[in-house]
Amino acid sequence: MSDEKQVCFMCGITEDENVLIPCRKSGQEQWVCVRCLPPLIHGQH
Ligand SMILES: [Zn+2]
Repeated sequence: MSDEKQVCFMCGITEDENVLIPCRKSGQEQWVCVRCLPPLIHGQH
């Protein structure tokens, strides 16, 4: 068991503040929040 908090790799928000979704990039497991997910899908920066 771990109480390590996951954070969004885009904005740094924690899982306490928003819903985080697991994703992968460059072979690394990352977490992204639902606010950052739409621009990520549309390829915006
Ligand atoms: Zn985010």
